[in-house]
Amino acid sequence: MEPWRNILPADVLRSTCKLAIVVVVGVTLASRQILDAWLMYRNKINGALSVKKSIAGPWKNILKVQVDLSHLGLNMDKMFRCKDGNGCEAVFWSDNWTRLGALKDRFPSLFLMELNKRCVVKDRLPPFPGLDFSWAWKLQNASAPDPSQIILCRSSIPPITLNPIAQDSWGWDDSLDMELSVRSIREVIESKSLPEDDVLLPWSYWLPLKVNAFAWHAGLDRIPSKHNLIIRGIPINPFCDSCKAIHESTDHLLIRCSFASRVWDEIFEWCKAPKDLFLSVKEILCIESEWPISKTQEKILHTIFLTTLWCPWKARNERVFNKKAKVSSDILGEIKLLSFEWIKHTGKCHEITWPNWCIFSF
Ligand SMILES: [Zn+2]
Repeated sequence: MEPWRNILPADVLRSTCKLAIVVVVGVTLASRQILDAWLMYRNKINGALSVKKSIAGPWKNILKVQVDLSHLGLNMDKMFRCKDGNGCEAVFWSDNWTRLGALKDRFPSLFLMELNKRCVVKDRLPPFPGLDFSWAWKLQNASAPDPSQIILCRSSIPPITLNPIAQDSWGWDDSLDMELSVRSIREVIESKSLPEDDVLLPWSYWLPLKVNAFAWHAGLDRIPSKHNLIIRGIPINPFCDSCKAIHESTDHLLIRCSFASRVWDEIFEWCKAPKDLFLSVKEILCIESEWPISKTQEKILHTIFLTTLWCPWKARNERVFNKKAKVSSDILGEIKLLSFEWIKHTGKCHEITWPNWCIFSF
């Protein structure tokens, strides 16, 4: 049988990649301030923004997906800007201190001739208004920098007065009109990368990426159900492999099919949750938010419900591709076990024990 990645439509794969970007940047950065990470890990090699491969950290994760972000119109180099200070920190050629982006990109021929590629702003700016820039050029084969480029470079730099008692500082460019926070950059990335839809990201930080991604795609009806594959021109038997009576749509497969419905009944009974009527994945993604329960209880139930979408999907693939059938009690056991491990260990709910978990009393 062909692997899923070979038969998944390109746009489904692309969506998954975009989600991965959001997760890599959003989740990993959640523990630290972006700016600190950036200052800590920025290491300019020939003026290029890069990181040491041996150092793990959030900025490294940003750079990993920088190309993908650029496809979304997000240029991290330009989004960060050096705010005026004494000019002793900002690197003249490679930091975005002029709001024009890195000068090395705008004037590559001048950068090539620069004697000290890591010189700071103070090294080159005129010490007093009216004086010329303190250029320092390499003499290569007796050739000098193009005077017209020097004039252009000089005139494109806005008048800046260095403040000797203030340090250079970094932040988002003013045009972004947002505070320097993880939430703000995450919102920008999501607004660029996610489809316009009324389905909120059903995120649970206690769950692995694959489970979150699957739930999100299921909410958008973008999982490779038979119905969706047929829409994309793949000629397959449209009927559900479980009940063999109804076409396999996303909602049928995960919610309405008698097999899925039995699993949900058992989950609701185990969780002692009110068995609301729900007919779609969208509804289940936010069902617990309506209930009068604590935030922790809400997070636990949300994690269980996303796991209850994930496990039947895995069982369905086992049934279709490996001809291994599971009964609903097997699925229920798997949901209980996986959600216990994720909630206890990733969610750090250490007070929950397995016996208590099995009767949902803790
Ligand atoms: Zn069915």
